[in-house]
Amino acid sequence: MTAKIEVVPLRAFKDNYVWTMRNARYAVVVDPGEARPVLDYLAEQKLELAAVLATHHHQDHVGGIAELRRMHPVPVYGPRGEPIPTLTHPVGGGDRVAIEPFDVSFEVLDIPGHTRAHIAYYGANMLFCGDTLFACGCGRVFEGTPQQLYASLEKLMAFPDETLVYCGHEYTLANIGFAKAVEPENAALLERESGDAQLRRENRPTLPTTIAREKATNPFVRVTRPAVIESANKYLGRRAGDPAAVFAALRQWKNQL
Ligand SMILES: [Zn+2]
Repeated sequence: MTAKIEVVPLRAFKDNYVWTMRNARYAVVVDPGEARPVLDYLAEQKLELAAVLATHHHQDHVGGIAELRRMHPVPVYGPRGEPIPTLTHPVGGGDRVAIEPFDVSFEVLDIPGHTRAHIAYYGANMLFCGDTLFACGCGRVFEGTPQQLYASLEKLMAFPDETLVYCGHEYTLANIGFAKAVEPENAALLERESGDAQLRRENRPTLPTTIAREKATNPFVRVTRPAVIESANKYLGRRAGDPAAVFAALRQWKNQL
């Protein structure tokens, strides 16, 4: 029986989301940087925690796992290649994670760049991508190279347009500000800004986004568009040689703001 899965954003810290998949009885959380919002939600909704999924080792994504496991000794999936002592099931690209209470299985993808062995989970039209792809932006390059992060974003863009994308942070409006500097004439971007600004005024998440929306508005996945190339060249003061170089220029430009 496949009961419908609902995905609920639990807020943590200033702008993190702990994405929580749930049905009537069970919950699975992605990237619980803090335990408290999760424990409160489980208690209030009378849900049983079934598993934890982690995308990368940063503390604001995994910091709550130890405390969650003290009360709920569930399997914890996460990247094999990163130092996360609370993992019980290290996984990597090509693995599948079956979430039995939901009758869903997720494909694990290697998407390095933000961190060395960052992973994503894809299944049932949902993509959990941590700090690699953001709405209208992307993560910073902390442990990999810009080329790696660019390749990881390209991998994510190959999913169907209607895929729901659950990112780790609420950064959308700031990201749109940068995107407008890159592509001031992009009408889809301006339209997105008014919609997302309205959501934020109502204190609602701008997420999930979709692959189609990112293809239309996110400069970091639009690096083959003439307007984006031209802005990158202007920033560099020379011609970026290839799409990865355009991407690297945008990433560097945004870091400096
Ligand atoms: Zn991170």
